[in-house]
Amino acid sequence: MNSFANYNHLLTTRPHDIRQVIISDLHLSNNEPAQRVLVQAFLALLDDLLVLPNLTTLYILGDWFDAWVGDDVYLSLTDEQKQSHWLTPIVSKLKQLRIAGCQIFVMHGNRDFLIGQSFCSIFGGQLIREPYHLQVGEYCYRLEHGDALCTDDKRYQRFRKLMRHPLVQWYLLRKPLYKRLELAEKLRLKSQADNAKKATYIMDVNEQAVCQAVNNINDINGNDVNDINHLIHGHTHRPAIHTIDDDNKNAQKNKRRYVLGDWRVHNVGSSRQFVEAVIGVVIETDTDDNPTSHSEFELVRFTY
Ligand code: MN
Repeated sequence: MNSFANYNHLLTTRPHDIRQVIISDLHLSNNEPAQRVLVQAFLALLDDLLVLPNLTTLYILGDWFDAWVGDDVYLSLTDEQKQSHWLTPIVSKLKQLRIAGCQIFVMHGNRDFLIGQSFCSIFGGQLIREPYHLQVGEYCYRLEHGDALCTDDKRYQRFRKLMRHPLVQWYLLRKPLYKRLELAEKLRLKSQADNAKKATYIMDVNEQAVCQAVNNINDINGNDVNDINHLIHGHTHRPAIHTIDDDNKNAQKNKRRYVLGDWRVHNVGSSRQFVEAVIGVVIETDTDDNPTSHSEFELVRFTY
């Protein structure tokens, strides 16, 4: 984890150069004190983003929330209930960020795949589907949550296929809110128990799935893609930069896989408590004073 540059340093030395920020796996909830600290950390990041003069986009690549059983969790609240709800500071700060000119793109993760456009609309955000292709300078990056790449976990992939089916989602969302909350709690406990039994390699990405991903130029979002150079995902909670061992002979070499980190509280409850996460940034050298301006993607360490 120590090999990543420090985000706070970047923020203080080159605020004009930060153009886009990509985060993943915050697993926000209001259940445990440690998770409430993560909410504070996220709000602190948003405060930082609000002062960046050239920021164009914030991407949230899934598992923003530890669980999401439907937008009505928040949208069905009365104004009075919203006032004291833990999501309200998040919503208002995102709204501020949007008004300041930053686009907010939200992708589903395996925990919050029921987030809808209705929730995103209240802060001017936009739900995006994976894979999402992002052009940075001369390179095309494929963005996805990452759970679809963990193909060694056959049981999970079957569950995923079922849960992502529109009919299943329609059926789930018809159930009363309290039923959905019960179901989510059951699933959470089951997934915890299941994951404890799984070998670590099963919960990581499969190399072949990674190769397939970077060679698949079909774009569901309708942007033209000629070639994918690199992959950015989260989900595995193993922040790192890997070289992809591409089995496609025609592919250009040196494709990389950037893994964003989860947001984690260290030394919970002690005086040395802090939050740490490896996040992605797109940096562009200012055109005005640099004729050879170029953009690049980088992983950096955010601490709060
Ligand atoms: Mn995940």
